[in-house]
Amino acid sequence: MTDFGSIAGKVVVITGGARGIGLATGTALQALGARVALGDIDEATVKESGAARGFEVYGRLDVTDHQSFEDFLNEVEQRLGPIDVLINNAGIMPTGRLVDEPDQITRRILDINVYGVILGSKLALARMLPRGKGHVINIASLAGESHIPGLATYNASKHAVLGFTDTLREEYRGTGLHFSSVLPTLTKTELGSGVTPPKLLRPAEPEEIADAVAKLIVEPKSKVRVTAVAGAIAQVFGLLPESVADALGRALGSGTAFLDDVDGDARKAYEHRVRD
Ligand code: NAD
Repeated sequence: MTDFGSIAGKVVVITGGARGIGLATGTALQALGARVALGDIDEATVKESGAARGFEVYGRLDVTDHQSFEDFLNEVEQRLGPIDVLINNAGIMPTGRLVDEPDQITRRILDINVYGVILGSKLALARMLPRGKGHVINIASLAGESHIPGLATYNASKHAVLGFTDTLREEYRGTGLHFSSVLPTLTKTELGSGVTPPKLLRPAEPEEIADAVAKLIVEPKSKVRVTAVAGAIAQVFGLLPESVADALGRALGSGTAFLDDVDGDARKAYEHRVRD
């Protein structure tokens, strides 16, 4: 059993905290005594969620904008004290064939999912290095260790987050700082709405990702895959010859899960939110 006692009093910043995995993680950490700040580009929703659940700091943060990110971190440190943990969670996942993806959407995916994570990590490093402590947790995805038709740019962004986070772990070894990646399977949030999960893969609840993050804070590791079963399947796939892994993936439905099998009506509101 994990002893979560060390989480009490930690100052934790979560990007993309208005809903989904970010909000579930903030809620779980706050319940364990952390002092949580939620930032999100969706100001109305983050204010609603923040007030409803009694968070100490919540407000607008655009992870693609240096000034916005810096201002948010400054406000958190003024109000709560030095940041112990930054969770780079904000991310978007428009689906569809690459040939149909407008350039502007390609750039937006990379801007939020990759640049936002790099920027957040850099700003956190500048604060944490002189203190000799701190933990940056980047929410990647099992899509960062696989290739899924309909998600080419998203896949690329999550592969990038994993490579980036592993590199920081080595670059800052011995400084007292920790860098971790979290690799969730398909999780029940708006991001996955209308997507039929591939066979064998039970979608995770956002609370399961939150629980994994809480454990990571107590006991830092380079990566955690959630669910454990989905993570194990992904790792086994990685050991198989490519043609076998691809054929198995198709048999399990991953070839069409994010293309022809998507329920367009159920997904419409999400695609609208992240594309417009
Ligand atoms: P979500 O859509 O429910 O929440 C994401 C939040 O990020 C939203 O509130 C959105 O407003 C915010 N956001 C978007 N752009 C932003 C920006 N520029 N600055 C600040 N905030 C911004 O999605 P989620 O499922 O909770 O996803 C959270 C993270 O988990 C993402 O990085 C996602 O890629 C990852 N993930 C999700 C799943 C899944 O199936 N849901 C699986 C693996 C990984």
